Amino acid sequence: MTSPIIEFKNVKKQFGELALFDNFNFSVAEGEIVSIIGSSGSGKSTLLRILMTLEGIDGGVVNVKGEPLWHMHKGDRLVPADKKHLRKMRNHMGMVFQHFNLFPHMTVRRNITEAPMRVKGKTRQEAEREAMDLLALVGLQDKADSYPAQLSGGQKQRVGIARALAMRPEILLLDEITSALDPELVDEVLDVIRNLAKEHSFTMLLVTHEMYFAREISDRVCFFDQGRILEEGPPDKIFVAPEKERTQAFLNAFI
Ligand code: ADP
Ligand code: MG
Repeated sequence: MTSPIIEFKNVKKQFGELALFDNFNFSVAEGEIVSIIGSSGSGKSTLLRILMTLEGIDGGVVNVKGEPLWHMHKGDRLVPADKKHLRKMRNHMGMVFQHFNLFPHMTVRRNITEAPMRVKGKTRQEAEREAMDLLALVGLQDKADSYPAQLSGGQKQRVGIARALAMRPEILLLDEITSALDPELVDEVLDVIRNLAKEHSFTMLLVTHEMYFAREISDRVCFFDQGRILEEGPPDKIFVAPEKERTQAFLNAFI
């Protein structure tokens, strides 16, 4: 078996008095699509934010592609990562957020080209060519010169996906990317993800409340409860015959 692309080992995460993760263990195989479900406050976003280096950890180790994320090797010791290491590691991942987080004062095109030019040193010409390809992929070629405020929520989120893809990540982190959308706009965004899952070999970690979508797309579903994975397994098992009472209660709320 190849080593996991993502690995949390005995991770601890505190917010003041709250010990959110304590001895938390979790891993994802390369190319695996894992959905995370669970009630609000159970630690789903924090998990993704730790991976995206937006939140630190208070103990344990997180490995991405076999390399420590929040630490680096110094001789035979592990020491806290510096900014350069974090930046390098972050580039393995792309994240899409619930509230899009687009730059409001930039056109769609600039939103997508900004990071590749600034972080990866791409030329404007190259970055813009790639941006147009990505806009074609999410069906928004004609919106390159629009500003975020001129777009629907579904269009904004498709730009958010194109922007994440512009950095050529191997791992996609999706945090409730349809939760802020009107119901009629959800499918156009999920269709993009379906297509990415089918046509490209991403590793995906998605937090979602779209249960039918999680069931369709995932190799594995993890039910989070108070900073623990209470139950996990293939979607047909978790959605059809969950073992834990809390998983059943959670899923029943969606029927
Ligand atoms: P979820 O995404 O599952 O709703 P989160 O990961 O956002 O949960 O939050 C898990 C818990 O950690 C919650 O109790 C939340 O209040 C707390 N928390 C998250 N981020 C912070 C923060 N920056 N400061 C303090 N507490 C936080
Ligand atoms: Mg959340």
